[in-house]
Amino acid sequence: IPVEAFDLVIFGGTGDLARRKILPGLFRRYCAGQMPDGARVIGAARSDMDAAGYKDMVADAIREFGGGRSCEDGTLDAFLDRLHYVAIDARGETGWSELTDLMRDSVQVRAYYFSVAPSLFGDLAERLHSHGLADDQSRIVVEKPFGRDLQTARALNASLAEHFDESQIYRIDHYLGKETVQNLMAVRFGNTLFEPLWNAQYVDHIQITVAETVGVGGRGEYYDKSGAMRDMVQNHLMQLLCLIAMEPPAKFDPGAVRDEKLKVIRALDKVEPHHIVRGQYAAGPDNPDFREAVGDARSKTESFVAMKVGISNWRWAGIPFYLRTGKRMSARSSEITVVFKARNHSIFEEDGEDHRNVLSIRLQPNEGITMKVTIKEPGPGGMRLVDVPLDMSFAEALGEDGGDPPDAYERLIMDVIRGNQTLFMRGDEVEAAWAWTDPIIDGWTARGDVPKPYDSGSNGPTDADQLLARDGRIWREVR
Ligand code: NAD
Repeated sequence: IPVEAFDLVIFGGTGDLARRKILPGLFRRYCAGQMPDGARVIGAARSDMDAAGYKDMVADAIREFGGGRSCEDGTLDAFLDRLHYVAIDARGETGWSELTDLMRDSVQVRAYYFSVAPSLFGDLAERLHSHGLADDQSRIVVEKPFGRDLQTARALNASLAEHFDESQIYRIDHYLGKETVQNLMAVRFGNTLFEPLWNAQYVDHIQITVAETVGVGGRGEYYDKSGAMRDMVQNHLMQLLCLIAMEPPAKFDPGAVRDEKLKVIRALDKVEPHHIVRGQYAAGPDNPDFREAVGDARSKTESFVAMKVGISNWRWAGIPFYLRTGKRMSARSSEITVVFKARNHSIFEEDGEDHRNVLSIRLQPNEGITMKVTIKEPGPGGMRLVDVPLDMSFAEALGEDGGDPPDAYERLIMDVIRGNQTLFMRGDEVEAAWAWTDPIIDGWTARGDVPKPYDSGSNGPTDADQLLARDGRIWREVR
């Protein structure tokens, strides 16, 4: 869908996120013909450089992080022509009059991407207003982490709300920009087949796994203050849980979808301590252990968490949702799995196999949706049952030039320009998620809870397996 001409200002336009995701994403949209004439991107950051220096930096970033996709000759230069740069101080006066001069009144869409530390959000919001750069049509985009608990999230929301209405604020969770996540909604609400079965009567349990193979890398200091619960569960896993568990919204519009997600968070049960397993990775052949990586020999921060969560509403009462996420796991894989109940009666001779329907929604790698169904084994061997995947993968069909489907960031930035907030977190959702997360983390602190060590390259401490084994279930393979 074509978008209107826009001015997009990226505060933090020289930072890691801008170089790895935002700018290469914009370039790909440019190549796809989605940046109309008159659309401009303005980098704004602390570094003292001119527009030519910025264009060089962006060109390097696109070569390094553009995923190998390049469009026709000369296109990179044409994209670079759309770029401008202002050296600016979010906390001072430097650069603001230059930015004001650069912005055009004639452009309909003005968007400001806050790709800077959250401690600068309030300063930016305030200065955008005091310099007359924002009106009631302007949009701001903010990155995670959105607070580290309920109190800080509320303060952040309040500082943005002083100058912007909720309808102007786009809180990014890039998991929501993934093709499969949106397809999950299409599969659930675009078919008659699934929704009647999507409840406690037919579903045995649901698993959500977000596994990473990397360790904390260069983010040790930050991560040690955060941990898997704050870094992954409160935002990404919670968002996936909402989409899988929510009631059908009356319409596919931002208000309706986000209302239903909020209801899920509010219906979450308090998690009992024995329903959570925390882990910390041990040293591997090529990596130091977690504590060495974060530089604190006594760190009690978790790099892995697994938990059993209940949702107390009519649809899901009694059905466990098992969530797990961690670093240094066996494979990089994000998957939601809906395991349906076993048949209540079999007309076939038992073969010892657990033939039941399983719907797997895969976010990475190889985005796609697969349904395991049972059929007769082909051939003359009699009535023998065999499970086969019904494949709803779409990655191949998607790539515009045979390459990867659009990255989550590309899609979300274009949604900002279009003014569509459906795939962004609303302030009350974020606060509700923290309200659920805080008591869990506070409990660990109060008890002096120490995470269990697990081998790098494994899938967490053995206690995580026991969490399911106690219920007669097993985790899905991480692949
Ligand atoms: P970074 O440290 O690489 O870059 C920070 C940017 O902010 C730089 O461009 C710097 O010039 C600018 N900046 C710093 N102080 C400033 C000031 N006073 N005035 C104006 N500009 C200033 O950080 P990053 O990794 O790009 O992260 C940016 C934000 O995005 C952070 O909130 C981070 O938590 C979040 N985030 C980053 C990633 C990632 O992959 N890097 C992923 C998710 C969220």
